[in-house]
Amino acid sequence: MDKHPLPQGKLWLVGAGPGDPDLLTLRAARLLESADLIVHDGLVGAGVLALIPPHVERISVAKQRSRHTMKQEAINALLIRETRAGRQVVRLKGGDPFIFGRGGEELDAARDAGIACEVVPGITAAAGCAAQAGLPLTHREDASAVSFVAGQCKNLTDQDWSGLAGHGRTLVIYMGLATASAIADKLIADGVSPGLPVAVIERGTTADARVLRTLLTDLGDLVARERVASPALIVVGKVAARADALDCLGAPGLIASWKDMACDS
Ligand code: SAH
Repeated sequence: MDKHPLPQGKLWLVGAGPGDPDLLTLRAARLLESADLIVHDGLVGAGVLALIPPHVERISVAKQRSRHTMKQEAINALLIRETRAGRQVVRLKGGDPFIFGRGGEELDAARDAGIACEVVPGITAAAGCAAQAGLPLTHREDASAVSFVAGQCKNLTDQDWSGLAGHGRTLVIYMGLATASAIADKLIADGVSPGLPVAVIERGTTADARVLRTLLTDLGDLVARERVASPALIVVGKVAARADALDCLGAPGLIASWKDMACDS
């Protein structure tokens, strides 16, 4: 028998929450202290990264919309190699690992490789950003259903979102900035009222968060006018009217019609 067996490595898929380090789970905070290696996304906030002790090795695999610095297969290979070497590897991801975070793919890869893997949930952007904005995603009077969708899809037109937005429902769009105009057009074409309130939350839960509000018909213009930058979330539904937000209606004529249009959506 080997006298010096490798220590048992383990991979942890950890949600870092939406930005504010106070929104980490206690488990995530403990793992940042005890890990041998942390592999993190660009979305993980500076405040969270600052909690990583200096002796813990850290690798950034930040992705950008048009440029992938490290392909998913290469990330998976790195995670598996390091875990097999007996290390405690933390894969730190913005928000929750299983909400648009490709955490499912990393878990599959870990299972296929036969390495131990555990998932630590995080507060997803929708929950964190809505809380900070005082925007209840469900409300007895306004919405009894909420959906999360990804706006950054190559074939947005092929996505069937019908029934996800409108009366009694809240639609939260992740990664929807670049396609904001097309998203508004698509929803309106599906029969959603152009006068439904929309909130755009930029850098939610951080000190320099912005919460802007307009009507669905003005969504694309608002994003361009206000130069909204990533990361940002779009919330479509009557609940958006309840947010602590800056009203940013573009054309003056829209202001007059705000209340009427929102009501019959
Ligand atoms: N796993 C993450 C989502 C990854 S997809 C989660 O559960 O939150 C990346 C998208 O999340 C961004 O494009 C943006 O739409 C949203 N997002 C993440 N953090 C955000 C923040 N602090 N403020 C606003 N949107 C955020």
